[in-house]
Amino acid sequence: MHSARQRRAQAERLCQVCGERASHHRDGWLFLMNDDGSDRYEGTKVTKPPVCLRCAALATRHCPHLTHPVGVRSRRPIPTPGTARLTAHVD
Ligand SMILES: [Zn+2]
Repeated sequence: MHSARQRRAQAERLCQVCGERASHHRDGWLFLMNDDGSDRYEGTKVTKPPVCLRCAALATRHCPHLTHPVGVRSRRPIPTPGTARLTAHVD
């Protein structure tokens, strides 16, 4: 992902795939990551911006980097340069 696009998407909570508004509801913004089997995502750092529901469905089927995809919602992703720290709710 282009670094300028990544920073903008993180800061403005845009979908990393299509650039539209990322999925958000009372449980938070939707991030995709690989399930590491721990079921513990609180405080996890991610380098990828959130996603919209449509792109999440596509990515979980087609993205070669998501070998064990899980959707994690964060109510207050804490942006730091190039990352977001998650306060998590697993979908
Ligand atoms: Zn999208």
